[in-house]
Amino acid sequence: MGTMASIIVYCPPDTAEALMEEAQRLVHDLDRRLSVYEDGRLGRLNELGTASLDDADLRAVVTASDSLQRITGGAFDPTAGGLVRLWGFPASPAVPAREGIDSVLGLTGWERLVSISSDSIVMAPGVMVDFGAAAKGYAADRAYATLMDMGASAALVEIGGEVRCGSRSDFGKVWTVGIRHPRDGGLLDTVRVEQGALATSGDYECFFIDSAGHRLSHIIDPSSGYPAQGAVSASVLSRSCVVADAVATALVIGGWELADSLPEGLVRAILIVEVDDDGMRVGRRGEWQDSPNG
Ligand code: AMP
Ligand code: MG
Repeated sequence: MGTMASIIVYCPPDTAEALMEEAQRLVHDLDRRLSVYEDGRLGRLNELGTASLDDADLRAVVTASDSLQRITGGAFDPTAGGLVRLWGFPASPAVPAREGIDSVLGLTGWERLVSISSDSIVMAPGVMVDFGAAAKGYAADRAYATLMDMGASAALVEIGGEVRCGSRSDFGKVWTVGIRHPRDGGLLDTVRVEQGALATSGDYECFFIDSAGHRLSHIIDPSSGYPAQGAVSASVLSRSCVVADAVATALVIGGWELADSLPEGLVRAILIVEVDDDGMRVGRRGEWQDSPNG
């Protein structure tokens, strides 16, 4: 997934090493299997246009992506992978020719170009998928669940800024999780989370400035083929980190209009940062500062 991870666990001292080793092994393994940057099954899916879904994690990410694509009105769409590549992210981003964007837009569109059965995924020729906007959250969910299953009293797993944390109810740990300021690198806010996930996406992590001075980031609007302009950053508090991760990415594209169209109960709270000529505006909806979050 091309990023950093951190894991904090509360557990009996004699189990700490085994828990940390297992969580690290799992995150590395998921990274290898779910990343388009690695030579795993997903890399081959893009080469061959088809893959077996006998791998439970790949199947879970594909199935979650299928529903999150629909729920976000196509703002989150793994077939944006071809556009991400055309724009040269992450290694060497640059504005592509208009004809290039038009031709790759023809290879973008999950519902039109991807079909999923119970045991395989098949894509139209030339389609490139990238699950990077949801895989970090999925891996955080899995590592958190594994740590708790192995007897942790409380745990926090953070992968590339997406956080899944919680605690056994009788342990009662409440985590304080920071939201990064999208411009000055400091903290925009902190949130108390007892059980849940907090994901943030934005235009500050992987971007370049074009000749007109516009900031263009690696989150691409699948409907236009151009980098997202909906928000500077979006944070989502949810029960599940794969949902929070995908929805946060989608909200950078769709902003408050998309936030207003999400089904009731999908997420717990949303924070969106917008910038215009008058400066930075931070909007919050939902239950941000209560606990427990369940
Ligand atoms: P995140 O850091 O979770 O916001 O994910 C960003 C990554 O998602 C990018 O590096 C791309 O690989 C991928 N991506 C870009 N645009 C989209 C999109 N519209 N839908 C799904 N994934 C995307
Ligand atoms: Mg995301």
